[in-house]
Amino acid sequence: MVKAILLDIEGTLSSISYVKDVMFPYSKKKLKQFLEENRENEKVKQIIKQVEDIEGKKLSLEEVAQILEKWIDEDKKVTPLKELQGLIWKEGFESGELKGHLYEDAYKKLKEWKDKGYQLYIYSSGSVGAQKLYFSHSEYGNILDLFSGHFDTKIGNKKEQKSYEKIAKEIGLKPEEILFLTDNPDEVKSAEKAGMKAIRIVRPEDSEYIQDFPYPQVKNLEEVENVVKL
Ligand SMILES: [Mg+2]
Repeated sequence: MVKAILLDIEGTLSSISYVKDVMFPYSKKKLKQFLEENRENEKVKQIIKQVEDIEGKKLSLEEVAQILEKWIDEDKKVTPLKELQGLIWKEGFESGELKGHLYEDAYKKLKEWKDKGYQLYIYSSGSVGAQKLYFSHSEYGNILDLFSGHFDTKIGNKKEQKSYEKIAKEIGLKPEEILFLTDNPDEVKSAEKAGMKAIRIVRPEDSEYIQDFPYPQVKNLEEVENVVKL
């Protein structure tokens, strides 16, 4: 019997393109102004220093901004960029300029499942801090109360069986009492290996069905109950 539902965010509850088409352009648009306004902030000073270290020379604020913008375009996974984007997004969510996207069916089913007594948990590669920021400033308002807990990659890689075993232990349930929903096929397999029930969410906007996939695939959260009784 399912007692808890563990959920991925991107591609499952929210659209993948939101990050690509809204959050990244937002961080790029705000970058220079943010650096100028916060140049005396200790964290920002460290970020600037890290960029200079990577480039191997002293840089003007203008040059730092140009380099960071270029890294956004190239989708570079570098720490100073990630940290600065985190700060910019925080300001954006808190000011209300950014609102965390959620598919309508996701919001509706989360509320319904919560009301029915299921515990809801999030497992995302975005940090727990970023997850909380996102759900407390979502398109449906502050929905943080829906969740009983949050996990990120600190508990382990999302593609490893062990991570799901650890999460079950943390939640205090047997793996078979937990239903995991994600768009990523490897994550489905790892959760299943750990003993959880897992369903792949295949949003037509974000992904495609895989032929002969050994586990159930449905196109949104409304359809989950066609596959598992809740
Ligand atoms: Mg995902």
